[in-house]
Amino acid sequence: MSPPQPIDLLITARWVVPVEPARVVWEDHAVAIEGGAIIEVLPRGDAESKYAPRERVDLPGHALIPGLVNAHTHNPMTLLRGLADDLPLMTWLSDHIWPVEARVIGPEFVRDGVELAIAEMLRGGTTCCNENYFFPDVQAATYRAHGFRARVGLPIIEFPSAWAADRDEYFERALAVHDQYAGDALIATAFAPHAPYTVADASFERIRTLSDQLDLPVHLHLMETAREVEDSRREHGLRPMQRLQKLGLVNDRLIAVHMTQVSDAEIALCAEAGVSVVHCPESNLKLASGFCPAEKLRRAGVNLALGTDGCASNNDLDMFGELRTAALLAKAVAGDAAAFDDAFALRAATLNGAKALQLDAKIGSLEVGKRADLAAVRLDEVETQPLYNVVSHLAYAVSRRQVSDVWIDGAHKLAAGELVDFDLAGVLDKARRWGQRIAVSGGAE
Ligand SMILES: [Zn+2]
Repeated sequence: MSPPQPIDLLITARWVVPVEPARVVWEDHAVAIEGGAIIEVLPRGDAESKYAPRERVDLPGHALIPGLVNAHTHNPMTLLRGLADDLPLMTWLSDHIWPVEARVIGPEFVRDGVELAIAEMLRGGTTCCNENYFFPDVQAATYRAHGFRARVGLPIIEFPSAWAADRDEYFERALAVHDQYAGDALIATAFAPHAPYTVADASFERIRTLSDQLDLPVHLHLMETAREVEDSRREHGLRPMQRLQKLGLVNDRLIAVHMTQVSDAEIALCAEAGVSVVHCPESNLKLASGFCPAEKLRRAGVNLALGTDGCASNNDLDMFGELRTAALLAKAVAGDAAAFDDAFALRAATLNGAKALQLDAKIGSLEVGKRADLAAVRLDEVETQPLYNVVSHLAYAVSRRQVSDVWIDGAHKLAAGELVDFDLAGVLDKARRWGQRIAVSGGAE
């Protein structure tokens, strides 16, 4: 018999839920990790004799799952949590969010908001996000410094901001950030035109050319409300999706966020073209934007991922909460209790998110060769007893407070509920100071 093979890390767990294959739950299994990658998933007993780990973590009452992927965020806005509630989208944006942002936006605001968001995401089992905000250079540097995986959006919008003065400068700065992080292990980029109603055809045409050349995803709010569709018809004579199709942007690089107004014909088009849809049910509910037909999209074979949207319209970054809301809402909208089942909810929050971000070769499931982005969830707590079905509990009963451990790229980021190498007191102090400053500047009336 050969001697045990030295490896970096062995994690043993009561249950391992790989997500792919769907619905599979392996009992008393172990995940072997070397160089930040999963090299084997095997029964615990076999792992004990086969491997000599330099570090081991035993999770006797836990489920080990792929880290959750939040496929649509504006994480600097975590500092605007609870600033303006109970308003429809355009009033909320135009009268509250945009004026406050105009006063506070800058590198410090972005850095401090992202750090607060990283703490919240890690504590809730999220290991990757699809970011969409100004100052992508600062976001990327902050995610990198904390070893957090992100696809950082390169913002394009037709009005000046503290980030860029005009169209040319938005593109120039976008490409500089893209070049800076090309080939990075944790940070990738995407174009992030804000929405059809804030981006002109000329910019979309440039995005299309560059997206083709650089193979970059296009992360876009699309058909969030009925008003957006009406305005587009009036201004362009086309629904927003028709306009994008005419511009050549309806393809497998498009990450279409919200889609509450998507028609049956457009669902078929998304399936055919390989568009990924990001469903943000809690933001849509809170802003009364409408209901994304999630089950219809799923049945049509569209890749459906989940996002929280920004904290100012949710008001949290809780992906376990989001996947539960998504499942419950989809059943109500479809009029079918069997719609959007538990295994699909978990898949939407992991592998489908990875696929939307074009990262599914790397993350999203516990498969050999993928990077070790993992979350452990305690199932031996009051809230998840008794236990008949692990996947059911992960979808319908678990709270994010039951997340105990998180790894990204094989690095331990949350250990027994505590953030590792993270100045939480400092981050909280900065968040409180921003809250005071924004309230004093008239943001919270
Ligand atoms: Zn959004």
